[in-house]
Amino acid sequence: MSSDCIFCKIVNKEIPAEFIYEDDNVVAFNDLNPTAPIHFLVIPKKHYDSLNDIDSKEAFANIFSAIPKITSKLGIKEYRTVINTGKSAGQTVFHIHVHVMAGREFTWPAG
Ligand code: 5GP
Ligand code: ZN
Repeated sequence: MSSDCIFCKIVNKEIPAEFIYEDDNVVAFNDLNPTAPIHFLVIPKKHYDSLNDIDSKEAFANIFSAIPKITSKLGIKEYRTVINTGKSAGQTVFHIHVHVMAGREFTWPAG
């Protein structure tokens, strides 16, 4: 828990979010400013600033194994996953999160 981290506060239910999944290690909730009809964030309950700080295979597995569980529950088979790492890559919240977006066509390369 990082006391000034907005996503830790969401994990601890200190600020509201639209949760769509929760297990012992991970939560997922809708993005406040969605960029696609479906846009949610998957985060570990444990605070890591970014992908650079993930310290175990288990932490990766916890995050990534949750994603197909959530998407299958939502009935989506096609989606984009994004992790922004660092300011220049677009990271604005420094608690690692995977964006999962669906419901529209996506272009590549990303901007
Ligand atoms: P980043 O730019 O760090 O990759 O993504 C941060 C994401 O968190 C953004 O898409 C932003 O809309 C979302 N976000 C920021 N603050 C909140 C919040 O308080 N609640 C929710 N649900 N999403 C947030
Ligand atoms: Zn945090």
